[in-house]
Amino acid sequence: MNEKKFKRDMSPEEFRKYGYRMVDWIADYLNNLETFRVIPSINPGDIKNKLPQNPPVNSQPMEDIIDDIDRVIMPGMTHWNHPDFMAYFNSTSSSPGILAEFLSSALNVNGMLWRTGPASAELERVTLDWLKKMIGIPDPFWGIIYDTASVSTLHAIAAAREQIPDLQLRQKGMTGRTIPPLKLYCTAHTHSSITKAAITLGIGIDGVRMVPVDSDFRMIPSELQQRITMDRTIGSLPFCVVATIGTTSTTSIDPLQEIGEICSRENIWLHVDAAYGGTAAIIPEMKYILEGVELADSIVVNPHKWMFTPIDISAFYTKKPDVLKNAFSLVAEYLKTNEDKEAENLMDYGVQLGRRFRSLKLWFVIRYFGVEGITIILREHIRLAKLFSQWIDAYPKFERMAEVNFSVVCFRFHPPDISEEKQLNELNEKLLNNINDSGKLFISHTKINDKFILRVSIAGLRTEEKHVKDAWIMIRKEAEKLLSK
Ligand code: PLP
Repeated sequence: MNEKKFKRDMSPEEFRKYGYRMVDWIADYLNNLETFRVIPSINPGDIKNKLPQNPPVNSQPMEDIIDDIDRVIMPGMTHWNHPDFMAYFNSTSSSPGILAEFLSSALNVNGMLWRTGPASAELERVTLDWLKKMIGIPDPFWGIIYDTASVSTLHAIAAAREQIPDLQLRQKGMTGRTIPPLKLYCTAHTHSSITKAAITLGIGIDGVRMVPVDSDFRMIPSELQQRITMDRTIGSLPFCVVATIGTTSTTSIDPLQEIGEICSRENIWLHVDAAYGGTAAIIPEMKYILEGVELADSIVVNPHKWMFTPIDISAFYTKKPDVLKNAFSLVAEYLKTNEDKEAENLMDYGVQLGRRFRSLKLWFVIRYFGVEGITIILREHIRLAKLFSQWIDAYPKFERMAEVNFSVVCFRFHPPDISEEKQLNELNEKLLNNINDSGKLFISHTKINDKFILRVSIAGLRTEEKHVKDAWIMIRKEAEKLLSK
């Protein structure tokens, strides 16, 4: 055997050598984040063009592979960990989370069954119970980890569909027979993953009813009730409502209690999308955001959004795990084990068979920071967002466009002498592009009622008051520059 061409794996010495080197690389990277542009200055295809079209036939030296991280990969990086990353809902990784990911790939557990990963199955239960207590989700709720909120919500809506009496959708499917149109209710501010789940599950885009919102972009419960009643009278089948705690554009908060009462009365599954906002309920004075959650059937919270746990990890809780299991459990002979009666096999609760050891990073993060530590950081983000919004409110040429419920500020540049909406939209789009092209700050935008709105999201682990101040100075400067042109 030619050892040069064929390698089984690294020797322990080699692993130690490159492992230490990788850890040094990561430590330096995290320490030097601010020396990088937040988003790279490159064009589509630039990175691909630096890479060979064919895979290497023979083994390549680790030295070369590591060198290529700096040479090829880093020029194409958008730095989500950067303190000046203030776009979307930023998700930052923390060092304990990074170390847990490292360990998770070393252990390489596939937790499909209790037997294939007992520690993985049981740590998932324990960490999800911890998170549940931290957030204030009451006891009948049972949790499972999926990769993303989109997938968590897909499972919620699948369970809601499974719960519809008499239709036997699991067995008979949705085609080749006559069934009433199924209806799911949310608002135009709900995340697109809800409509995508409806597409995937055969509900269709037409099955998604957008309930009107109030002036703070919250679902109006009386409008929800009206639509449900009307749909029933025309023979449709209302089966699911999705309420959001922290919508993607403006972080609005749907009135959970009132929506929950309607769903309980109407026997409709209520799913709560708290992918971003949910972790804020760890803070004692923010607990109110989840008032009424006991009326829900399921809720999703993403530790990878605002809890410093590396992407991906989404915590899904439901009061009805038996319905979820009914929807998905299908046990092939070779997956049966002696412990099936006493232990949980997580493959029974979803589409996927294999599952990563994701609870490990949640465990590391919760233990390293502690509930108090996480509370302090989240509270500080909210304080910084409020501070930023005060600067916006005090500056006559800017206009705040939504309440600051969490750590996101929605605003636009609006000089008093410009009133035409089209012109304002163009101005704000230009402003966004100039800011982001600078590489010094990364913010994002949304459009509400045809108005182009800028969003600053302050949820990065490394973002401090000085970064928020600098961001404000830069936004103002770029805005004034535009005006002088
Ligand atoms: N729900 C809300 C409110 C979101 O803002 C997002 C993404 O930003 C999602 C769901 C989807 O999250 P994921 O990327 O984990 O699927």
